[in-house]
Amino acid sequence: MKLNDPTLLETRAYINGEWREGDTFAVTNPATGDVIANVTDCSIADVQEAIDGAYVAQKAWAAKTGKERAAVMRKWYELMMEAQDDLGTILCAEMGKPLAEAKGEIAYGASFIEWFGEEAKRVYGDTIPGHQPDKRIVVLKQPVGVVGAITPWNFPNAMIARKVAPALAAGCSFVARPAELTPLSATAMAVLAERAGVPAGVFSVVTNSKAAETGQEMCANPKVAKITFTGSTRVGQILMRQGADTIKKMSLELGGNAPFLVFDDADLDAAVDGAMIAKFRNNGQTCVCANRIYVQAGVYDAFAKKLSAAISALKPGNGMDEGVTTGPLINEAAVTKVEEHLSDAVSKGARVVTGGNRLGGTFFEPTLIADVPATAKVSHEETFGPIAPLIKFDTEEEVIALANDSEFGLAGYFYANDLARVWRVAEGLETGMVGINTGLISTEVAPFGGVKQSGLGREGSKYGMDDYLELKYLCMGGI
Ligand code: ADP
Repeated sequence: MKLNDPTLLETRAYINGEWREGDTFAVTNPATGDVIANVTDCSIADVQEAIDGAYVAQKAWAAKTGKERAAVMRKWYELMMEAQDDLGTILCAEMGKPLAEAKGEIAYGASFIEWFGEEAKRVYGDTIPGHQPDKRIVVLKQPVGVVGAITPWNFPNAMIARKVAPALAAGCSFVARPAELTPLSATAMAVLAERAGVPAGVFSVVTNSKAAETGQEMCANPKVAKITFTGSTRVGQILMRQGADTIKKMSLELGGNAPFLVFDDADLDAAVDGAMIAKFRNNGQTCVCANRIYVQAGVYDAFAKKLSAAISALKPGNGMDEGVTTGPLINEAAVTKVEEHLSDAVSKGARVVTGGNRLGGTFFEPTLIADVPATAKVSHEETFGPIAPLIKFDTEEEVIALANDSEFGLAGYFYANDLARVWRVAEGLETGMVGINTGLISTEVAPFGGVKQSGLGREGSKYGMDDYLELKYLCMGGI
């Protein structure tokens, strides 16, 4: 891997301001299967040490002014943007997404650090007229304390950035446990955090292959005030159960199964563009990826034709290579799931329009299937891969019912132009986020999050700060 600054490829864990070596686990490049690095495999004692350090460091960090925290975060943001190419290269190598997309993720992740750093100065409380003549009421906002974060492999930088930014801005300290498949983007962030002047213990990165034990420790440890997690609903449920004994606060960004609706009055070319980005970004491996595409009968054939042409133009390959638009899937299990969803749909009557084959390694052809029945697995479960399933519908009521027939409720998308319909559908979808005539909704300035079993809490925007703050009500008497 060629880097301008080779010290950004850091294989050690970062605990309480110290770089830690020890046993290691291997990190591989999903495009080639090559081992990129052997990374420190932290023990549970290391996790405890990081939490102890965070507990101590948090007090001094919270005592700083918002402006002081903002200055450190601004520096961290600037260092990330200066290192964007290297950070993108590391991310591409460990996760597989195309280099341009990887660099885009670095800018996206960094934007949270910039934005929340600015917000650190604006954690306003409230005054409330007293309920009795001699009383005055004041509401303070204070940091929750130590935050334990568990993050997934699909956005190795941004999933940490989205959490650490509001936490640090609020005055919390933060212990991150990145996915074992992609720890190098996390340790690179720690290198830059240290350079930016984030104090020892305020941001630790415990790399290890012991996900379940680490989660258990974070949930049980009384010094941890809050867990923030992005990943599957299954693991989110485990963490909630484990956190019950100590009443942990929880922010959970869990599974999605986004419906994408195309109505007769939609701009079809725009809808195809939106479907391509919503479906094939990160090779279908995002929690807001369009998982099921419902198209109204009047435009179904025309949309299928245009979408098929766009999908055929994609170029799967090693993300480091010029012109590649979709990388590999993350591992063998991901390919198995894609194959399972495809064969299940076909066995129930779906037709493969384009793609449909494995390409060697963990690469899979970008695929379009049409006439998918509502009973198919793709209609109900997150595929997390490059299969676009088309389902025909007739009426607005019918498609809203189909879209909402899911235990998930993260993102939904639709293309339509009739104003009254736009309002009805936007209000009718049971999701935390709705893309209307757009397939790309993520930004640091808006609240990202789900309803139903897609999670709790919001990341990004002024609302995202609330997840890391406690309200304290002061009642002043005798006035
Ligand atoms: P994905 O399917 O995206 O890998 P997971 O929920 O399995 O979603 O993984 C998300 C993160 O949760 C990863 O860092 C993974 O290592 C971690 N993880 C997996 N199992 C557990 C668990 N039992 N407790 C805590 N973290 C876990």
